[in-house]
Amino acid sequence: MDLPRLHASKLIQRLGSNDPFEISKAKNIVVIHEDLGNIYGYFYKSNRISSIHVNNRLNEFLARFTCGHELGHNELHPKINMPFLRRSTLFSINRYEREANRFAVHLLLGENHPYPFESKEEFLLRCNIPKEFHCFY
Ligand SMILES: [Zn+2]
Repeated sequence: MDLPRLHASKLIQRLGSNDPFEISKAKNIVVIHEDLGNIYGYFYKSNRISSIHVNNRLNEFLARFTCGHELGHNELHPKINMPFLRRSTLFSINRYEREANRFAVHLLLGENHPYPFESKEEFLLRCNIPKEFHCFY
């Protein structure tokens, strides 16, 4: 198993949830929903407090995905400062962005697994992952 997938699965097992908002809470990361214009979200760390900022204009899936993506950076790249997640950087070829996206998709999938004979696309749609995010699986 690759690192993003492994980290997502370990986190779910350890915390008994695959909800990015609950996981953030359990990890003492404050999630702030605010109007961020065309930015989806970002992670901010000061000496004591870590926070994930999520644009309150996003639909429910995108809000959860964005929170999961930022959690992914915190789990996988704690020393690297990744600036804002925007729609334009979502499909970036940057390694760290791709890993955070993969982490987020696997986090949202939780304990779901494909049924026998189910295609990847059918499986992901059944788990409410929109088509344009299937490339991160
Ligand atoms: Zn990112």
